[in-house]
Amino acid sequence: MTTETIVIVGAGQAGGWAAQTLRSEGFAGRVVLVGDEPHRPYERPPLSKAVLSGDAHAETTHLLKPDAFDALGIDWRPSVGATFIDRAAKQLRLTHGEPVAYDKLILCNGGRARRLNIPGADLPGVFTLRSIEDAAALGAALSAGKRLLVVGGGWIGLEVAATARKKGLGVTIVEAMGRLCERTVPSEISDYLLQLHTSHGVDVRLGTGIERLAQNAQGGLTASFGDGSELACDAVLIGVGLVPNDELAREAGLACDGGVLVDSQCRSSDPDILAAGDVAAWHCEWAGRRMRLESWQNAQEQGIAAARAALGTTVNHQPLPWFWSDQYDVNLQIFGMPAPAHRVVLRGDQSASSFVMFFLDGDKVVAALGPNSARDLRFARRLIERRTSVDAAQLADLQVPLSKL
Ligand SMILES: Cc1cc2nc3c(=O)[nH]c(=O)nc-3n(C[C@H](O)[C@H](O)[C@H](O)COP(=O)(O)OP(=O)(O)OC[C@H]3O[C@@H](n4cnc5c(N)ncnc54)[C@H](O)[C@@H]3O)c2cc1C
Repeated sequence: MTTETIVIVGAGQAGGWAAQTLRSEGFAGRVVLVGDEPHRPYERPPLSKAVLSGDAHAETTHLLKPDAFDALGIDWRPSVGATFIDRAAKQLRLTHGEPVAYDKLILCNGGRARRLNIPGADLPGVFTLRSIEDAAALGAALSAGKRLLVVGGGWIGLEVAATARKKGLGVTIVEAMGRLCERTVPSEISDYLLQLHTSHGVDVRLGTGIERLAQNAQGGLTASFGDGSELACDAVLIGVGLVPNDELAREAGLACDGGVLVDSQCRSSDPDILAAGDVAAWHCEWAGRRMRLESWQNAQEQGIAAARAALGTTVNHQPLPWFWSDQYDVNLQIFGMPAPAHRVVLRGDQSASSFVMFFLDGDKVVAALGPNSARDLRFARRLIERRTSVDAAQLADLQVPLSKL
């Protein structure tokens, strides 16, 4: 192993896993971890759930306790941004400090919350949610009796809405598309989510966009919507998706297309530069297309895969996509990539608190999802991964245990 310095850009979840994997795989060379946040690597899912509600402290999100992190012997550069990759010299330039030479570079610099280009988007009381600081600022604005407007009916918007209801706020969700989470789930699940939120007292407005925000005489904000209606509120969360931080790669001439393009070995168009996590786009065999997978599972597994690939191990990063969301008392999990072409088989009652929806391609289950069905979904995952042929009638039959299939 001739590689002596491996530099990781981004001390988030993928970067943190890449750094610890280099050590657990026995790499004794120099590891430099450059992160523009002041924190050690941490996980973001609790930021819209337990951390936002105040039930968990921000430090519980850290991947490793400080002692364990320090024991890795990593040259961690907190609050330092990477500004330019000089590929010819194999050097990374930073916002401050000396340039850092690399033998292998792993880009784990994630993405940022998409902003809305409307009047009033920068007013006080308007929030996005990506970092620990964002969660602290939004959390401070969530006091009982106030009204929160959530712009965007995607996962983060829905989770924040649930947390805000739990804290006693009135909540309105406005979503420009015709249904909730339209990009990621079939219409049956959008309907389920709509029912879940309306039954918890959320005012959900579909098919209309926000056009402007302005301060009102009561010291709050007034939102104006495309259908001509208005809403007075105390705080606004903009939850309209993520922009991948691929500018660093693009300026260095790496192939990018809505993310840094990598192969299943996590290698970019420069074999000495790899990428993992929210910033990386690759051909996902389960989806049958190139995509970025914005999920906890992918950040961890691709971070690990990229580190191993940087050390010369042959990897094939093709995990079955897994995503979960927690809203109220519901834990919804999705395995695989449901698509309109799949045949849907329902196990259980869709109006009940738990059921499983299977997605079949021929006689094979290719995706499954459901609320509060962790056990059944574990079996579903095996059916998918083993590509087991199944009988749809048996899948739907609650008398037939999934373990038997
Ligand atoms: C509020 C919230 C809730 C979520 N909930 C879930 C969930 O329930 N289930 C699920 O599966 N997924 C969830 N996710 C998604 C999951 O957290 C992300 O997919 C994951 O964090 C991606 O990890 P990453 O390391 O690629 O990016 P990040 O964790 O964003 O890390 C990237 C890091 O790079 C830093 N950086 C960027 N540019 C530079 C630069 N030039 N120089 C140095 N550092 C830089 C960033 O500041 C950041 O620290 C959630 C995400 C959020 C924001």
